[in-house]
Amino acid sequence: MGEDRIVSAQRQAEDDPQLEIGLRPRSLDEYIGQEKIKEKLTIYIKAALDRREALDHVLLYGPPGLGKTTLAHIIAWEMGVSIRITAGPAIERPGDLAAILTNLGPGDVLFIDEIHRLSRSVEEILYPAMEDHALDIIIGKGPGARSLRLDLPPFTLIGATVRAGLLTSPLRDRFGVVDRLEFYAPGELEQIIIRSAGILNIKADPEGAAIIARASRGTPRVANRLLKRVRDYAQVKADNVITATVAEEALQMLQLDQLGLDEIDRRLLIALVEKFEGGPVGLDTLAACISEEPETLEDVYEPYLMQLGLLKRTARGRMVTGEVYTYLNLKPDVTNQQKLW
Ligand code: ADP
Repeated sequence: MGEDRIVSAQRQAEDDPQLEIGLRPRSLDEYIGQEKIKEKLTIYIKAALDRREALDHVLLYGPPGLGKTTLAHIIAWEMGVSIRITAGPAIERPGDLAAILTNLGPGDVLFIDEIHRLSRSVEEILYPAMEDHALDIIIGKGPGARSLRLDLPPFTLIGATVRAGLLTSPLRDRFGVVDRLEFYAPGELEQIIIRSAGILNIKADPEGAAIIARASRGTPRVANRLLKRVRDYAQVKADNVITATVAEEALQMLQLDQLGLDEIDRRLLIALVEKFEGGPVGLDTLAACISEEPETLEDVYEPYLMQLGLLKRTARGRMVTGEVYTYLNLKPDVTNQQKLW
């Protein structure tokens, strides 16, 4: 259910792929934010180009919608090579991956989204490919079976996942560059919104863009989606210009508050406070309260609530922080105060 939320960071059916491509920055210069990663990549890319080598394998992790796929495209563009895109669940058998690998050109980028979802047997094909640019194929069965080693051109594997810890350690260890994408600051999201508004031919005041930015949950994908919804509102209810008032009214219509929290977020926080006295409560129980999968709660929704300082993970379970009572306009349960602060 959470996937249909306007503030969901995951790709949705309404996110027109062509439009996403149109809004995607093409070079590192155009890519807003993530300064630390950009700085490192600029150096690694230049060094690899100078040495005329393929870039080392890169693992990008972090919540969805923060720009991992975009960054993979940019790396390929900056290196002047082609990119092949696939995802962990799409590569069912070792032969599927072997076919992809043998079709790569020298220096090409292979992007595997949700790389933690590769099966064991597929993953084992990747080890020699990443390390020695080799493909080990078993020919025949039983005692007569023999192994054949094929050379592959040097290539760069870019893997994306929500958490690096989801990867097996042999796979994780084979990446030379491992970087975490962070949530974007409101100022960075404002720049992204203004850039997207320019591409989509939408008139947005800086104040209007700032209000959408604050409600975008630190996530460019959400920012672009909200921008489109607010544009509809501006077109029908206002003069086609996204002003601060238009942005505020549109967010209210979408039932989002200033921080981009929606009904489900509030339900989750209220459940924690009212049913579990602020916690701690186990992930599965909490997920059941909002009819959501525990993994989705953990990887998609909790990170933003933690970023806002409303929720924390402890060894004994999830707990609200004192801030939640201010946010929900409630008084903390006195018996529970010690637990909270
Ligand atoms: P992920 O692969 O992490 O789920 P994507 O790379 O698909 O995220 O990014 C989602 C959308 O957000 C892209 O279509 C792009 O338009 C936008 N986006 C992501 N990062 C940036 C950025 N740094 N600057 C501008 N737009 C961005």
